[in-house]
Amino acid sequence: MPLHSPLHIFAFMDERLQKLHVILKKYWGYDSFRPSQLDVISSVMDGRDTLALMPTGAGKSLLYQVPGIMCDGVCIVVTPLISLMKDQVDRLRRMGVSAAAVHSGLTRRQIDITLDNAAWGDLKFLYVAPERIAGDTFRTRLRSMNVSLLAVDEAHCISQWGYDFRPSYLRIAELRELIPDTPVLALTASATPLVAEDIMRHLRMDKGRIVRSSFARANLSYVVRKTDDKDGQLLRILENVRGSSIVYVRTREQTAKLAGWLREHGFDAEYYHGGMQAGERAGQQERWMHNPVGVMVATNAFGMGIDKANVRAVVHYDICDSLEAYYQEAGRAGRDGLRSYAVLLASSDDRGRAIKRFETEFPPLETVKRCYDALFDYLQIGLGDGKFATYSFNIHEFAARVHLFAGTVFNSLKILQQNGYLTLTGESDNPPRILFTVGRDELYRIRIEREELDNIIRTILRLYAGVFNDRMVSIDEGEIAHFAGYTVERVKELLKTLWQMRIIRYVPGNRSPLLILHEDRLPIGDVFVSPESYKIRKEMTADRIDAMYRYVSETGECRSAFLRRYFGEEAPEDCGCCDVCIEAKKRSAHGEPDMRGDIILMLRHGGLSVKQVVARFGVSPDKVLAAIDSLLADGTVKDAGGGIIELS
Ligand code: ADP
Ligand code: MG
Repeated sequence: MPLHSPLHIFAFMDERLQKLHVILKKYWGYDSFRPSQLDVISSVMDGRDTLALMPTGAGKSLLYQVPGIMCDGVCIVVTPLISLMKDQVDRLRRMGVSAAAVHSGLTRRQIDITLDNAAWGDLKFLYVAPERIAGDTFRTRLRSMNVSLLAVDEAHCISQWGYDFRPSYLRIAELRELIPDTPVLALTASATPLVAEDIMRHLRMDKGRIVRSSFARANLSYVVRKTDDKDGQLLRILENVRGSSIVYVRTREQTAKLAGWLREHGFDAEYYHGGMQAGERAGQQERWMHNPVGVMVATNAFGMGIDKANVRAVVHYDICDSLEAYYQEAGRAGRDGLRSYAVLLASSDDRGRAIKRFETEFPPLETVKRCYDALFDYLQIGLGDGKFATYSFNIHEFAARVHLFAGTVFNSLKILQQNGYLTLTGESDNPPRILFTVGRDELYRIRIEREELDNIIRTILRLYAGVFNDRMVSIDEGEIAHFAGYTVERVKELLKTLWQMRIIRYVPGNRSPLLILHEDRLPIGDVFVSPESYKIRKEMTADRIDAMYRYVSETGECRSAFLRRYFGEEAPEDCGCCDVCIEAKKRSAHGEPDMRGDIILMLRHGGLSVKQVVARFGVSPDKVLAAIDSLLADGTVKDAGGGIIELS
């Protein structure tokens, strides 16, 4: 048989398909792929750049994990959340697959070891936080790696027009240049057609394919409840839920408050937000996971990567800023395929508050610049100075000092971040960081004069290269203690001494956000905020809020169809189980079809006599006549004389 006959290719395809199924069974225990999964996996294995647009719960992790296991080399996965990364790495390891992660919660040394492993060891999956890819260390090692696939999870973060833009995602394109022959797989559960296009452009997926699976969730009933008594409404909903649920609220304070109130009313309510200590958070989450009737009151920090299949209801106590966010959060209900509810509580003053928030989110550019100057003054940094400096930063303290609202400050800093001046990290477990502020000779002198400090300085120098450069270096106090033969407490004391002697700069480990400066301080006139990006982002945000409110006030279109159209599906069918569909069904069950609408349709092709119209409905003439009257009254229909009516 000639090598390239169709038959040969067919046999080859078949073999690959078999192998894929063997892997699926062996590692996951599943018998078959879901339809679009195979489509994406085949595309990737043919070496094509692919964008997979699939809803939450569709099984996107498998799309890179199966090819990653099957192909030679290491699969690099870019993903934004450290907790998610750890979770995935643990899961792969439990399946017997070697996997590791590099993120800012690790020390330089731990990162080095992991990257070595990826380059020369037998690592199959390397998870990377986006802010890690820019570093030289990573890029240098990447050249030594045999990369099978570059997977970009939550790929919408690359788009400024998306609802969750992260500037660090833009650096992923640079990776592509270093590994030009490696296919890219971009994954997201939320991309409008515009965002999808943006993802492809930024990731240079010129000949990329898009595989889109439907955003329909047959077992999910969408409901909007308009009420000015959200508490009462929430109680009634939760009383009717047989099973576990999530209640999303906007602020951290609300989580504890509402959970407490629900407990008073007999519910097993836990709460969760991003500002809690890791241990406390884990405890609340754990209890909820194992409680079949648990209620979790949380901010949007909760949920990504949480795999509880039997959530019966997701209630939004406050309105989201976008339908993308709403769809993701609501979608956490009913992953087991059983009937579940996504309920949104809307009150009459929601919109006013949304407009206020919107205004804070886009402070005037003068305010942004004022914030820039105030920040450098606050940090006591003069013109032409500050590049690479890192601070543990309390935004509330700063805001109070400069007499601005914390929200305004936060959003001003966000805009400065988008323009490359600084990074404000989220709250996370930040490792301690140090930097030597004296030269090597000076240090040598100190080591001789202050003998008690010699050991720790020597240990630091041995463990951490780069402490003399102008960047703060993450350290591991446990590691220093181990090598120097001290307790961790003693290490902390000694570091503090070094800091007091102005030998090092020292930021102890903490959970507060870090502020990292990327550029020296500029005269205020030279601070540049790209106006078009500011303006377009503002418009996009306004559009998203608008779409959200259209969803809330919609009474004519099926909610599921509304959402699917928003995400770019054409002509989606009605779900039959949302509040709009049910309302329509009720009307027809009571013998009250949408009579006005039907009459308008009848008259589309010309006038009819009232008698004819009545005859076409098989119901009592009174009702039809009433409908005709109302059409006449609002001027939709007019009397053409002789008992004939026609459209106005
Ligand atoms: P996503 O990232 O799209 O939200 P995940 O990758 O987290 O989804 O997968 C959701 C769940 O679906 C996981 O528990 C996963 O193991 C399961 N899953 C994925 N693919 C399959 C399959 N082919 N058959 C059965 N379960 C699957
Ligand atoms: Mg996922």
